[in-house]
Amino acid sequence: MSEKKINICHLYPDLLNLYGDTGNIICLKSRIERRGIECSVTGLSVGEKLDPSKYDLFFIGGGQDFEQDVLIGDAETNKKAGIKEAMEDGKTFLAICGGYQILGDYYETWDGNKMKFMGCIDYFTKGHPDRMIGNYMFTCDALDGEKIVGFENHSGKTYLGSGVDSIGDVLKGFGNNGEDGREGMHYKNVFGAYCHGPMLPKNPKFCDLLISTALERKYGSASLEPLDDTLENNAHDYMVARLSE
Ligand code: GLN
Repeated sequence: MSEKKINICHLYPDLLNLYGDTGNIICLKSRIERRGIECSVTGLSVGEKLDPSKYDLFFIGGGQDFEQDVLIGDAETNKKAGIKEAMEDGKTFLAICGGYQILGDYYETWDGNKMKFMGCIDYFTKGHPDRMIGNYMFTCDALDGEKIVGFENHSGKTYLGSGVDSIGDVLKGFGNNGEDGREGMHYKNVFGAYCHGPMLPKNPKFCDLLISTALERKYGSASLEPLDDTLENNAHDYMVARLSE
């Protein structure tokens, strides 16, 4: 077992876990520990203050409009300052769908309910009566165009600010808004995406990118031993083929 340790903070695990997004935590922990690196996971929900110094990697899952509305007051009071500090300090984040949306400036639901979100990064979301649903595929610029496969189900259309990159380009499906051909958000070491599935088990290279990013920031270097990803790659490649037809 190496001396290294990654501490994961799972934000709102009881509220934001649409389509099994907690599977991303299971995948991260497994791939970290199978490299002989210790990994802790701490859930933080409503009423609990975030101390960003305790964690190296943060995860927020997806949720319906209702759950987003329920937690946003707590996010403002107990999480926002710590999240912004961690982001600017180069810590690694993965935020999925509703969790991705709440890091932005606001979310206006399709029936006109405008929810002020955390405003940690410059983007906003507007809901639409027609939901964007289905298996989808996009590229990851940070992995030289590696294809990412997953499932999306959102009414929100997200529009990135000028200083905010996407994760990559939509190859199949809707992505951020079904209009500009981009999917997700990448700011410093913060990644947001509409990618349910959960995202990481079928995209092992992206999971290892998150782990490497956290290790490099904490220890200055990261060399991850390869794992036997036969099953993961079979599932990934099957969906790439299916979505490329
Ligand atoms: N409630 C948000 C929307 O409908 C996010 C949904 C989700 O997390 N899948 O766009």
